[in-house]
Order: sequence, then C-alpha cells, then structure tokens
Amino acid sequence: MISPSECKLDIIVVGGSIAGLSAAYFLQQAGHHVTVIERHDEEYFRAQPFSGLRIPATVARLCGELPSLLDLLEHRGVHHPGSVLRQVEDYQLVGQMVYGERIISDLGANGYRIEYSEFWEYLYQLCLGNQVQFLFHLEATDVITAGSLHQPAKVITSSERHIAGDLVIAADGHNSKFCDLIEIIQPWKPSAVIWNGKARDPP
Ligand SMILES: Cc1cc2nc3c(=O)[nH]c(=O)nc-3n(C[C@H](O)[C@H](O)[C@H](O)COP(=O)(O)OP(=O)(O)OC[C@H]3O[C@@H](n4cnc5c(N)ncnc54)[C@H](O)[C@@H]3O)c2cc1C
Repeated sequence: MISPSECKLDIIVVGGSIAGLSAAYFLQQAGHHVTVIERHDEEYFRAQPFSGLRIPATVARLCGELPSLLDLLEHRGVHHPGSVLRQVEDYQLVGQMVYGERIISDLGANGYRIEYSEFWEYLYQLCLGNQVQFLFHLEATDVITAGSLHQPAKVITSSERHIAGDLVIAADGHNSKFCDLIEIIQPWKPSAVIWNGKARDPP
C-alpha cells in the first residue's frame, strides 16, 4: 500500500523496461504525474525472445506489493528455486544458487521463471490503467539539471524535444548513461555519522 505524497511532482522516467515501469507505477500511485520515455515501442518488448526472467523468492515477496502479480507468476510462470549468478561485464553464467526448502518456507514465497514479455506486458497494462504517460520511439540523449531546486530539470530527446520535470529517474538499464548524466545539485552530507554508538565527524 502506497501512502499518497503531499507534494505532486512531474516525474520523467528514462527507460520503459522492468525497472522503469515498476518505478512509474509506484510513483503514479503515490499521486505524482509520471512520463516514461522509451527508445523502443511496445512491439519491441512483446517480441523479446528472452524467455527466462528469473525471479528469486526474495524478489517474489516484493511482487506481492503489485496487484495480482503473484497470481500471474503462479499461473504463467514456473517455479524456480534459486538464483543464477552472472558476470557483470559480459553476463556470462558463472554459477547457480538453489535455495533449500527451509529457506523458501522462511521467505514465505517461491522463486519463479517467467517470460520477460509477459512480465513486461503486465507492468505496462498496470501503468496504462493508472494514467502513466508513455513516449515511445523517443531516445533521451541528455538531461539539463536545474540551477535550483525550484526550477524543473529538462530531458533532451533525439528529436530535440525538451521535456521538463521535477525529477528524472534513470531506468535505462545496465551501464546506465543517465545515472552519470544526472548531476547532484547539492550533494547531501551527513552532519555526523554514528559509529559503534558514538557520533563522529563525517568522512
Ligand atoms: C540474457 C539475459 C538474461 C537475463 N536473465 C535475468 C534473470 O533471469 N532475472 C533477472 O532479474 N534479470 C535478468 N536479466 C537482466 C534483465 O535484463 C534485467 O533484470 C531487467 O531487464 C532489468 O530491467 P531494467 O529495467 O533495469 O533494464 P533494461 O531491461 O536493460 O531496460 C532499460 C530500458 O531503457 C531503455 N533505454 C536505454 N537508454 C535509453 C535512452 N537513452 N532513452 C530512452 N530509453 C532508453 C532501453 O530501451 C530499455 O528498454 C537478464 C539479462 C540478459 C541479457
């Protein structure tokens, strides 16, 4: 259950895959106005040949926060009692971890494997049903962060369109370009850190 936010923001999410759609849904649920910019179109996601999206039990628990998602996993996915481990650089499979029955029972959820396209379609329909706006076939190329917290940021697209928003979320995948582009206006620094119960100066 998402609590409604007191301030209503215009939020731009760059990337319309799993992370982008999940973020968009929860933010819209909190009362913000969300626009997703995605370089591909819907058919690209529906035609994904990549069939084995594995959802470990730890993540399946979180899926319970989304309406009927556990039903979808149970009916359209297959049980998959573990996680695969891959190299960050080239995604080579390096190992597999299979959870014991007791761990699965402690977690209170099963692991699943489901077609990527089915999972994406579910999230997409959920977003559409909650008034998330989509701009497909549009590549975000740059972002201009605001000079102050009172000015909107702007995402520049390949068609030279400028889309303004109060907050820009980088959901553009592995090796995200937007994570690097989004400037931190005033880096947050703690005034003190607590170490072993004692306050210290921040590093
Ligand atoms: C072979 C393979 C197997 C995998 N198996 C699993 C698995 O079993 N379980 C699992 O959890 N994960 C798996 N993954 C990782 C999987 O891809 C991610 O979990 C999931 O797709 C991540 O979603 P994401 O939204 O973070 O990023 P992505 O799926 O990479 O999506 C990024 C999106 O951003 C869009 N985008 C990027 N740049 C821009 C831009 N400048 N402007 C507009 N749009 C942009 C892209 O078009 C894309 O749609 C696998 C990946 C591969 C390649």
